[in-house]
Amino acid sequence: MPDVYNWQLGRKMSYVFEEVHPERQFAAVFNINRCIGCQTCSGACKATWTFSKGQEYMWWNNVESKPYGGYPHHWDVKILQLLDEAHRAAGRQPAWDPSQANANAPYGVYEGMTITEASAPADQALGYLPADTEWSAPNLYEDTSTSYQGDRLGISRQGASLPEHQTWFFYLQRLCNHCTYPACAAACPRQAIYKRPEDGIVLIDQARCRGYKKCVEQCPYKKSMFRGTTRTSEKCVACYPRVEGLDPLSEGVPMESRCMAVCPGKIRLNGLVGIAEDGSWIEDRQHPLYHLIQVERVALPLYPQFGTEPNIYYIPPRWAPRAYLHQMFGPGVQEAIDRYTAPSRELLAVLQLFRTTQRMIFRFEIEQGPLVLETEINGRPWQMYNDTVIGFDAKGREAVRLSVVEPLYERPAERLNSI
Ligand code: SF4
Ligand code: SF4
Ligand code: SF4
Repeated sequence: MPDVYNWQLGRKMSYVFEEVHPERQFAAVFNINRCIGCQTCSGACKATWTFSKGQEYMWWNNVESKPYGGYPHHWDVKILQLLDEAHRAAGRQPAWDPSQANANAPYGVYEGMTITEASAPADQALGYLPADTEWSAPNLYEDTSTSYQGDRLGISRQGASLPEHQTWFFYLQRLCNHCTYPACAAACPRQAIYKRPEDGIVLIDQARCRGYKKCVEQCPYKKSMFRGTTRTSEKCVACYPRVEGLDPLSEGVPMESRCMAVCPGKIRLNGLVGIAEDGSWIEDRQHPLYHLIQVERVALPLYPQFGTEPNIYYIPPRWAPRAYLHQMFGPGVQEAIDRYTAPSRELLAVLQLFRTTQRMIFRFEIEQGPLVLETEINGRPWQMYNDTVIGFDAKGREAVRLSVVEPLYERPAERLNSI
């Protein structure tokens, strides 16, 4: 198998195809700290794409409660177990070496095996086919926390305090990661799955698919799904008509996908980032996603050790145990939480851009405002400025303008009851 470079792992790895990269990549940042678990995103995707016969069980976007929830049930525990068994059989450790961090390896080097490297010779990647029952009850264990450490009556005398709560859960928002090295595409014996050169969106050609379910088996995130009525597999299409600017509302510029655009928690920011020929991200410090992921490193990939280089990034939940988050998001977790907890002046401004316009933002500018707060966070001085952040769309038009401090408008007394 050819070697390809995976910047999230800080090293080359085996993959079935030669290294080729799109011009731009569909990507997003999800701020787990803000998600209210309302499932508006899941409903928007279902109402748009999976409302037909044979698609009843399909949730291309789902939100599960961690640590127990999962759709299909226990998908990540199962794949982590397989990976763990492969490491034990090979006498290896799935460890990271952060000391080797550099510009091309921001989190150091992953010294364990990916799902491709750990697979049996007959397979392209480590995987399993979920049983039909595992796709039922998509929100099993909703809002279920770890065991409650209260007294006999269930009352905690300690309460909960940061940095880690003893009793905890959090919402994990999931859709296809439009991976740089998709395991689904590697697994398909018909080569029916492809990654678009213009935006990195991964699609299944329905005319070529014969329903062998190899993609369902070998996507580690379990985001390819089999449809019994057509006997083909289907998956998230990244709402590509919106990304292409073809949606009637889009005014000809790329728009955020449906699940991103409806989020009332304002946790999602979706866009397209520039990719160089070698697969690295083209430096663009004024692009909000580049800023969050590459400059501030406040958002991290989900299970980077799987080795598919996923393109949905997460700001980890501040209250969850670090060991749990480390196995889920890799070694950048503590740094990401520290930066999110006491954001820099620029980061605080960029965080305002989440879910404020349906148009994808390609560039931001910050107009500096006055100092409005001086305090201490984690024992260090911290200042807040009422800066204004301006987001621009693909045509360079102003799409949104927001201040850090939400403006307060007082309704005139004579119109108190007006709507
Ligand atoms: S998340 Fe799964 S289905 Fe989506 S591109 Fe990656 S491997 Fe393929
Ligand atoms: S990007 Fe579009 S197709 Fe994909 S999960 Fe979101 S709404 Fe569904
Ligand atoms: S719509 Fe937003 S806040 Fe609601 S569950 Fe989805 S990601 Fe969370």
